[in-house]
Amino acid sequence: MASLLSNPERLERARRHYRSCGLCEHRCGADRDAGERGPCKAGPIARVYKQRVEYGEEWELIPSHLFYLSGCDLRCGFCVAGINAFDARRGHPLTAEFLAEAIERSREQGVRTLQWVGGEPTIHIPAILDAMAPCDDLPPVVWKSDFHGTPEAFALLDGIVDVYLADFKFGNDACARRIAGVHNYVAVLTRNLCTAARQGDLIVRHLLLPGHFDCCFRPMVAWLAANLPGARFSIRDGYLPSWQADRHAELARPLAPGDADRAYELAAGARLRTIE
Ligand code: SF4
Repeated sequence: MASLLSNPERLERARRHYRSCGLCEHRCGADRDAGERGPCKAGPIARVYKQRVEYGEEWELIPSHLFYLSGCDLRCGFCVAGINAFDARRGHPLTAEFLAEAIERSREQGVRTLQWVGGEPTIHIPAILDAMAPCDDLPPVVWKSDFHGTPEAFALLDGIVDVYLADFKFGNDACARRIAGVHNYVAVLTRNLCTAARQGDLIVRHLLLPGHFDCCFRPMVAWLAANLPGARFSIRDGYLPSWQADRHAELARPLAPGDADRAYELAAGARLRTIE
């Protein structure tokens, strides 16, 4: 990975997006270096609003050092990160020195993976690659993403990311448009899932949303069973209303009793590889 990361052509290709950005499928073309801002509101500096060592999520990734970057290209009303996800001015600037020092400390805690999360890391790929490039001997890289990136963005990650952790949030375009403010969601996300499965390990994660079993969860399971039956599938059943969830009546409450059991049964019936 070290030689791929220090490849000047790749780094330059990444930086060009800060002059005419096409990292996510908004494809707004913002000149972020010149102060323009697209729907994600991010500039050319990635900022870490939180970092911590995670011991409690997918067991095969932990302990994992998570770096939370502010700014996101989606606007999910139920976002647990709230304002930190949407205000790209929050946090400590990400630099190679900052990253190297943080990783050095977490090695002592037995960290197995380095994980980029958000907000959304894809909108910050140039800054992330620049920060990682000088670092020797990084742990395997996990990319936790909304998977709304462009093929160009995924090409920049090829050979550098070891595990893609995809948030498959919605099973249809209407829910994605209403709740997250994006168009053409399913086609973009499923295209990127196929790309990630070719480029590295793939874990598909879904946070069960109240009232979205038939419209979102059921078609998602059907798509995975038909197209990526070997992908590991992580069902998260701890939904609690956060941020502006009460703008959507069905999201203003926790999951109903039995919703999680129904989800696990459907996934098992479709022979998906569910993981803890
Ligand atoms: S990452 Fe931000 S600036 Fe780049 S295309 Fe998407 S919304 Fe526009």
